[in-house]
Amino acid sequence: MNIVLLGSPGVGKGTYAERISKIYNIPQISTGDMFREAIKNKTEIGLLAKTYYDKGNLVPDDVTIKIVEQRLKQDDCKNGFMFDGFPRTIAQADALSNIVVIDKVLNFTASEEIIISRLSGRRVCIECGAIFHIKNIPPKTEGVCDECNGKLIQRDDDKPDSIKKRLDVYKKQTEPLIEYYKEKGLLADIDANRPFEQVDEIIADARKALDE
Ligand code: ADP
Ligand code: ZN
Repeated sequence: MNIVLLGSPGVGKGTYAERISKIYNIPQISTGDMFREAIKNKTEIGLLAKTYYDKGNLVPDDVTIKIVEQRLKQDDCKNGFMFDGFPRTIAQADALSNIVVIDKVLNFTASEEIIISRLSGRRVCIECGAIFHIKNIPPKTEGVCDECNGKLIQRDDDKPDSIKKRLDVYKKQTEPLIEYYKEKGLLADIDANRPFEQVDEIIADARKALDE
């Protein structure tokens, strides 16, 4: 199954993507993670992406489409995959439709208030990428990853100015994809307005939509 996850930054997409990709045994393809890795390793794409990334702007479509195309050629994508954070523009969605068939699009929704609180409290492990939240999913020891003991940090783009910017960018450039996929009959809305203790129920709703 080839799946796309939509939803505002901060809706919890990364967390849901990780769970769902394990259940369906398909790789989670996060363009955000791919850009972070490229920036860390100072690759050509990383150097190109960094100026956009740091300001909370989208990386240009041609660069983004290129890394996705390369990723889809890998063997683990043969039986399906799940996109987390891609496509983010109509141009990306059009390009994607020329490469593969998408079977389902899950659109996770939550109020702006919930979204801002999730983003500003998020902490990530610099070693393994595990995601925590200072209130909702606190690590056992403050500032330390439960999984690997790595240091937890706040991503540069989770600082207040960048958050505002990312939400603006989402509204302008990505939100139109909801209508785009609705028209194609691929969209299922999943209510993510629930506290993190109820993440199992959010996942159950997602599975129901996928198994229909
Ligand atoms: P979030 O969904 O929490 O905003 P991501 O990790 O998905 O975070 O993305 C972080 C940044 O990576 C974006 O702000 C953008 O600069 C870049 N990025 C990720 N995916 C894309 C994409 N599909 N197109 C353009 N830029 C992207
Ligand atoms: Zn870790």
